[in-house]
Amino acid sequence: MIDVPINSVKGVGDALAANFAEIGITTVSDLLFFFPNRYDNYEIKPLSDLLHDEKVTIQGEVIGEPVVTYFGKRKSRLVLRVQVEYAVVKGIMFNRSFAKKQLQPGDFVTLTGKWDQHRLQITIDQYKKGKVKHDQPIQPVYYAKQTLKSSQIKKVIKQAIDQYSAAIDEILPEQYLEDYKLLSRTKAIQELHFPSSFQTLKHAKRRFVYEELLLFQLKMQLLRKQNRERTKGNNQTFDLSVVHQFVDQLPFVLTKAQQRSLNEILQDMAAPYRMNRLLQGDVGSGKTAVAAISLYASIVAGKQGAIMVPTEILAEQHLDSLRSLFGEKATIVLLTGSVKGKKRKEILTMIEQREADIIVGTHALIQEDVSFANLGTVIVDEQHRFGVNQRKALRDKGIDPDVLFMTATPIPRTLAITSFGDMDVSQIDEMPVGRKPVETYWVKENMLPRLLQFIQKQIDQGYQAYVICPLIEESDKLDIQNAVELYQQLQETFEQNVRVGLLHGRLHNDEKEEVMTAFASNQIQVLVSTTVVEVGVNVPNATVMIIYDAERFGLSQLHQLRGRVGRGDVQSYCILIADPKGDVGKERMRIMTETTNGFALAEQDLQLRGPGDFFGKKQSGLPEFKVADIVQDYRALETARNDAQMIVYDNLLEKDPAYQPLHDYLKQTFKTDGITFD
Ligand code: ADP
Ligand code: MG
Repeated sequence: MIDVPINSVKGVGDALAANFAEIGITTVSDLLFFFPNRYDNYEIKPLSDLLHDEKVTIQGEVIGEPVVTYFGKRKSRLVLRVQVEYAVVKGIMFNRSFAKKQLQPGDFVTLTGKWDQHRLQITIDQYKKGKVKHDQPIQPVYYAKQTLKSSQIKKVIKQAIDQYSAAIDEILPEQYLEDYKLLSRTKAIQELHFPSSFQTLKHAKRRFVYEELLLFQLKMQLLRKQNRERTKGNNQTFDLSVVHQFVDQLPFVLTKAQQRSLNEILQDMAAPYRMNRLLQGDVGSGKTAVAAISLYASIVAGKQGAIMVPTEILAEQHLDSLRSLFGEKATIVLLTGSVKGKKRKEILTMIEQREADIIVGTHALIQEDVSFANLGTVIVDEQHRFGVNQRKALRDKGIDPDVLFMTATPIPRTLAITSFGDMDVSQIDEMPVGRKPVETYWVKENMLPRLLQFIQKQIDQGYQAYVICPLIEESDKLDIQNAVELYQQLQETFEQNVRVGLLHGRLHNDEKEEVMTAFASNQIQVLVSTTVVEVGVNVPNATVMIIYDAERFGLSQLHQLRGRVGRGDVQSYCILIADPKGDVGKERMRIMTETTNGFALAEQDLQLRGPGDFFGKKQSGLPEFKVADIVQDYRALETARNDAQMIVYDNLLEKDPAYQPLHDYLKQTFKTDGITFD
């Protein structure tokens, strides 16, 4: 047992225990899992093995008197020459002029500090006279609050390991340790704190990366399973061949990815549990088509289907496309906030009497006065704009329909199985054949005149353009000011026959809608906009997307904006106006011009910016891992995910005695996570 109070460690009194409590460490277990932030290396290596910029330890004989120079008020610099092996190494020490007396020619010294390979120079942190040999050359360094020094923590942890290492229980089945060549829990803890070599340290880390990811994935899989078993479920019975007939009469053949996703969805719908699935795919990859087929399956099952979208414009667009897809096969109604009065009453009655098969709408769908006769499936478009509360609202109506979330923001697989770990994920990762990828160019601002000519040419051919405005960090107000200025400027620049429109977040909804409608019907040819245009509007006649300050956007967001064009049959263009300063910025612009695959971009974005930045801070919902890094450790993540699925769905925790320690551990650890065990 290591779940004992920290003051059972020798030498830890109340005062020290209180200091540890401040950083969240109250038990021996907490202490043992408080891992070092880095390690200092006091290994003495030959000069030829030293690495540039690393912290190193060297030994040699002082030659000549150290020289001290003073600068500033109380600053000094001591330069020392030391014969190390065949070379003379320069040692530099700041603000320790007193050392001059202690380091005399002929003295043998051990120096630790940062190594400069090119100058054969060491910036000395620590010096010792004589041949110092550490029995533990790799030393942990812990970061904590000021009240606790690294050396103090180190001492307490050392003592704790001495007292308790025999009490650290293995939680993984023996077979896992063998198969994956993992260190035991005890050994791994010892090595993480006091590594006997960097090699074993790596091993120790590898064990905890796996353990941490496995525990997390087990939590997700247990949640998913309990979710399925506990909800009332929704068993939709439909004749699959009727659904296939519907698919066969569509004006196109489904892509492989669409087919695969559709099968996954239909299986969920037919199963007794409630579907909780995320459908990902680039704009235009055919998500809505798949969703429509799923809605049709609901109708065949004798139930209603609904599709919820974030804006009224989108609702109307979906209504149109669904009506043309279904023809006579379904009665489709629209319910949004602006459907009012008598019309609203009529529609509500149709929904209640089951005269409406499919209901397209905004948040209005889940308002109190709406009661569905028999809701089978709900499609939620753009998943991250629909929160937990909306889902709860549906459940509160006593409806537990199959739910399919659709998003056009491709999320890298590692993130998807982490932040949506309790959901099932389907991906449409290919485009229908015959699509023309959007040609993407990166230009500097001085090419603007040529760019404007280019837009004018496209307009002369009957096409339209978006211009996304310069961004001003953190300031919605200034962004709008920018948009207004650019709008005025472009009005003057273009020929008389070109109408320019303006769209930004401060406009009222009806104003926004007016502008969008005018753009959709080609009364406006150039739409100047802040990023509000991102939400899935569909204007197939628009062929040009200009994005100012492109370097300030994430790749995924740029891709999202680019997805506004390329929706028709003609060639479309995306022009990124950017002047990135750093290499990463340049690299990102280059990637944008080279790939139009949203999943590939998302992976790159994740590599370049890290998981925290990927979603933006607020939406991240990503767990914090101590040792694992979901970008670097994606292989371990996949393995852990597969293992967790097997453990949970084969009931190994209950059935197999080898899993008893893990089972006991989970019972203890997941108590507060809403997971219950029998
Ligand atoms: P998304 O919802 O992913 O943006 P949609 O389902 O709206 O994509 O499809 C975009 C366009 O492509 C629509 O006009 C749709 O009819 C068409 N489409 C969908 N699937 C296919 C396919 N397999 N082959 C050809 N066209 C398709
Ligand atoms: Mg179901």
